Amino acid sequence: MEINQNPIRILLFYKFVKLSENDVDWFIRTHKKFCEDIGIKGRILVACEGINGSVSGTATEMEKYKIALRNDERFSDIRFKEEMGIIHPFTKMKILKREEIVSIKFDVDMSKAGQFITAEELYDWYEKGLFEKGDAIIFDTRNDYEFKVGHFKNSIQVNTKTFREFPNALKNFEHLKGKKIVTFCTGGIRCEKASAVMREFGFENVFQLKDGIINFIQKFPNTYWEGKCFVFDKRMVSDVSPSSENKPITNCEVCGIVCDLYKNCRNPSCDRFVVECLECQEKLNGCCSEHCLEELNIHFKEKSLRNQGRKEKIVLEM
Ligand SMILES: [Zn+2]
Ligand SMILES: [Zn+2]
Repeated sequence: MEINQNPIRILLFYKFVKLSENDVDWFIRTHKKFCEDIGIKGRILVACEGINGSVSGTATEMEKYKIALRNDERFSDIRFKEEMGIIHPFTKMKILKREEIVSIKFDVDMSKAGQFITAEELYDWYEKGLFEKGDAIIFDTRNDYEFKVGHFKNSIQVNTKTFREFPNALKNFEHLKGKKIVTFCTGGIRCEKASAVMREFGFENVFQLKDGIINFIQKFPNTYWEGKCFVFDKRMVSDVSPSSENKPITNCEVCGIVCDLYKNCRNPSCDRFVVECLECQEKLNGCCSEHCLEELNIHFKEKSLRNQGRKEKIVLEM
């Protein structure tokens, strides 16, 4: 018997489509029931501007899901990106109502979004050396910690901590106005919004990479993508394609060895994303530095004192 080494399928999808408040509420109610009935896990954001989600399950469950979502005529043309995995990257099924499906806190006309460029076209532009020669710009709309573990060759990073900083950060790129700019992000949703914002700010020649990094790496592994891809689930860092041979481009921030393990510092008052090898994680008890380890120990001491206090109080009250 053949053993399937990647039994889990992970779907990523989004679509900007105008929904009324009632549509949103109705969709959340019925969709939640449907997902629970077929037993899949994931996280889906729903807003008056559309839906944005990621779900995981077996291949059969994911086929059922795709058919059901496309049966809704508003989502009949929705595109799915698909990855394979060993375990569910989600622990629950969550469907959440939001103001925006990708939060930028900036009112933008989505009909202004940049023209699509396909993975094939982008590959062709690379082959022709457009980015190397400066005839076109490849612009990373993701956050700094995502850029760090992997990015397109020759790409310029917008250098933000969150997507909400994007509109403001554009003032550092005035010199690129008039240039041919290709924006990209993980699955395509952020650069759809980012490209609309850029055009609103007077960047005229803006393209968006259709279906994002994931689709590009799957079609052209080991070409113009360097490193790994940051993902917003338990995995944090993904190879995206089973045939990817990309080496990590990051080092452990504590000891410096080549490493692409991302984690949050365990010190609650720090909580920053840090690249840290397993050995250092163990040595520092999940913290990013000696300083954070000290703070964590103080935090634990205070917590245990508080708990003792509570116990004593309970005893006194009895
Ligand atoms: Zn280390
Ligand atoms: Zn820390």
